[in-house]
Amino acid sequence: MNHKGRRLYEGKAKILYEGPEPGTLVVHFKDDATAFNGEKFEVIEGKGVLNNRISEFIFTRLGEMGIPTSFIKRLNMREQLHKRVEIIPLEVIVRNIAAGSIAKRLGLKEGDPLPRSIIEYCYKNDELGDPLVAEEHITAFGWASPQELDDIVQYAIRINDYLSGLFAGVGIRLVDFKLEFGREYSPDGMVRTVLADEISPDSCRLWDMKTGEKLDKDRFRRDLGGLVDAYTEVARRLGLITGGGNGMRPGPKLVKG
Ligand code: UDP
Repeated sequence: MNHKGRRLYEGKAKILYEGPEPGTLVVHFKDDATAFNGEKFEVIEGKGVLNNRISEFIFTRLGEMGIPTSFIKRLNMREQLHKRVEIIPLEVIVRNIAAGSIAKRLGLKEGDPLPRSIIEYCYKNDELGDPLVAEEHITAFGWASPQELDDIVQYAIRINDYLSGLFAGVGIRLVDFKLEFGREYSPDGMVRTVLADEISPDSCRLWDMKTGEKLDKDRFRRDLGGLVDAYTEVARRLGLITGGGNGMRPGPKLVKG
């Protein structure tokens, strides 16, 4: 069955197509890896399949705990069906531990715990390099309304609590991650804020709790190698891969101590 319609948009790691029904979208996960606003590029075979599976798992769990999302279902190894939403042009970054840009910007040591979880916003604009912005900018320029920002903060806090626990249970520290939200319009003209895009090792920093090993896209950004092995390990710990094959398992296997 050909479930895909017209190609709507090609991003750095995903392609979006019109879905089979009006108001739906097919998201195709590519193997392309980019960093530093597209300056660094590589094709990493198998990355898309892993991100598709990991993001499906996380969005499904978040949906079950009452976070509205655009995710409908996984279609195949590389594709997901989503509700078509209007993307709010913000990258919402939640941080638990200093790493990456906040460490540089504020002179913090990478790995230092933050005094409390911090939410930051970047304005999604490739030409400007996704600049950090304040809530003032967001509401003044109308990128999101105060009500939408309130929804975003409430959801981001709940998602952080849930994911921190989920990953801690399998021996992984959730250092930071990026979320995107959209507006879902219903036929009666109502609009609600929903979680969109993906949550995967491409958009999170995940460190092994015992060894500190990086299990995320920093393996690519910092030329550490072994990206697919690291993403496979995340999927395995979440219970998404059995042994050597691709069999599905019901969920995470807890790691002690
Ligand atoms: N992130 C992302 N997409 C971006 C920028 C950041 O998914 O365009 C994620 C990144 O993987 C990390 C978190 O957001 O988990 C915080 O990233 P940071 O601001 O430290 O930027 P980076 O060091 O990745 O440039």
